[in-house]
Amino acid sequence: LTRLYGPLTALSNVRVDVMSALVSFDRVFEVLDLRPGIAEKPGATPIPAGSGLIEFRDVRFRYPSAAEVSLATLEDVASLDHRENEEVLAGLDLTVEPGQMVALVGPSGAGKSTTSMLVSRVYDVTGGSVRIGGVDVRDATLESLRDTVGVVTQDSHLFHETIADNLRYARPGATEEQMWDALAGARIAGLVRALPDGLDTVVGERGYRFSGGEKQRLAIARLLLKQPSIVILDEATAHLDSESEAAVQRALAEALRGRTALVIAHRLSTIREADQILVLDRGRIVERGRHEELIVAGGLYADLYRTQFAELPSREMAVGPLAGD
Ligand code: ATP
Repeated sequence: LTRLYGPLTALSNVRVDVMSALVSFDRVFEVLDLRPGIAEKPGATPIPAGSGLIEFRDVRFRYPSAAEVSLATLEDVASLDHRENEEVLAGLDLTVEPGQMVALVGPSGAGKSTTSMLVSRVYDVTGGSVRIGGVDVRDATLESLRDTVGVVTQDSHLFHETIADNLRYARPGATEEQMWDALAGARIAGLVRALPDGLDTVVGERGYRFSGGEKQRLAIARLLLKQPSIVILDEATAHLDSESEAAVQRALAEALRGRTALVIAHRLSTIREADQILVLDRGRIVERGRHEELIVAGGLYADLYRTQFAELPSREMAVGPLAGD
């Protein structure tokens, strides 16, 4: 029996090793936010520290075909469909000046998420270029790109590890004091302090489960630790209770202060405050300007404003040309 059992145990150990290798690959993949195929060029240049300028020049993009992503995850392949070879961005020109907040709006499928993903090099352009601080992101060192660009999405991932471990992905050498400062800035220090194990609380699927709004605030704490000069923010569409919503907004205001922000906007307050609103439709920028100008122009933005934004809860409705329309 031992003769039979021995090899079996050995085999199952191999399986465990393979599994953990897969898990750690996946993990690195997510933290770096890079797909296979996105690599650093030999002799890559660092993006100058603190760069806030983002430039898109005649950017074209189509998603890779199923064959091209054979290295990517099964989920990615499944999400491809008959439109896989269509151009999703068809010649985008945009400049975000250092410290500006630019809001991307547009109908579903217009290309807002795709545009934001090209900045952090989740994908590479198929034509034209994206530059940060004057450096084409394809020529930049991955480390400088990661240090410069911070991303907060609607479903920021937490690893099944302690809160401290999760925060250290943003800044490996962070001290406890720095972590508490970041948690305080993200308006979540009180909650973490009240947990019996504090920073050592294990989170995730089988650990302490944070609510959607709390997870977003932890993602903001990561951002505050990392201090990137550029923030890509996909605002939540999911409903948060109003207390959580208010806390997330205060945390974001702090996290975005003094940084360049490219925001996929779902909030009325964001589009009103934006230095520039870019209206995307079928992969092209069809209008650009500030809220008031675009309302007066009476084009797609004015329509979107009426259908997407003016329906938001009344506490969001500030006084404006169309308020109460
Ligand atoms: P939404 O507001 O609904 O999130 P969006 O403006 O962010 O939309 P994108 O997600 O950028 O739009 O999608 C732009 C187009 O690219 C859509 O037609 C979409 O179906 C397509 N697309 C998105 N992801 C992929 C993918 N992985 N493979 C192939 N096509 C994709």
